[in-house]
Amino acid sequence: LPIALHSFLYRKAASAAGLPTFVLVGPSGAGKTAFTMLTERGTVPTTHTSTAPLSIEALLPDPHIPASSNYRSPGDPAFERARRFIILDTPGHGKLRSYSTNTLADPKNVRGIIFVVDAAAIDEEAGLNEAAEYLHDVLLSLQKRYTDAKTSKGPKEIPVLVAANKMDLFTALPATSVKSKLEKAISAVRNNRAKALRDAGAKLSGEDDVDEEKEWLGEGGEGSFDFDQMREIGTTVDVVGGNVSQGRNAGDVAGWWSWIGEQL
Ligand code: GDP
Repeated sequence: LPIALHSFLYRKAASAAGLPTFVLVGPSGAGKTAFTMLTERGTVPTTHTSTAPLSIEALLPDPHIPASSNYRSPGDPAFERARRFIILDTPGHGKLRSYSTNTLADPKNVRGIIFVVDAAAIDEEAGLNEAAEYLHDVLLSLQKRYTDAKTSKGPKEIPVLVAANKMDLFTALPATSVKSKLEKAISAVRNNRAKALRDAGAKLSGEDDVDEEKEWLGEGGEGSFDFDQMREIGTTVDVVGGNVSQGRNAGDVAGWWSWIGEQL
């Protein structure tokens, strides 16, 4: 992890003054920056693909309500405070990706993870595999965080929203298909990784110092992976469709706002 990135994050975290933070991750081109801009300004500018992390402060828009202040009314200072949050947009590209998995290892104010994926790209093998590998790594880092935790209570659970974006495109798959395709592809990632570990272990002349079990996402056994297996480690995974943009206008991400509201 480049030091500059580290200190950037540190400064951002300090200025965020403890507000609940949602980390945006996902493959490059999925719409993370577009969503960040929409959150900040309520309009969609043309974005360039993100190469550096970006943190913005946001307000949960009407009519969405922070779950913690259900019973309060707009205008009430506690209600207004509860609507505030931080969106941390992370670069989705190649090597920079490890930076976001590292952030998750020390999630002081992290209230949730939003994995943005292009629902049209999921229909192609390359797009599906890239998303599945990335999501696998994010979930595995949450699992390790959970199993490595020293406290008997376990760390605070971190929910994951898979934001299936670009639903305005006619090639976009519906959220239910995005979910099942990702689960199936993550099963394959899991098997491939385990095989690679075994092969590497065999090369170490019988000395097996990789803990395979630790690297295995979700339930053991022959079965396939599904997102419900993450409940065991306190993580719910919801797949919700949306589109940040609609032509040159803002699209519809109400489902994502309400998910964010449930975490606030
Ligand atoms: P990032 O790399 O994940 O930050 O992706 P960007 O936010 O840079 O978006 C990549 C491209 O997808 C840009 O050209 C956006 O305008 C476009 N885009 C983002 N959201 C949508 C959407 O909901 N629908 C469509 N059709 N295009 C979108």
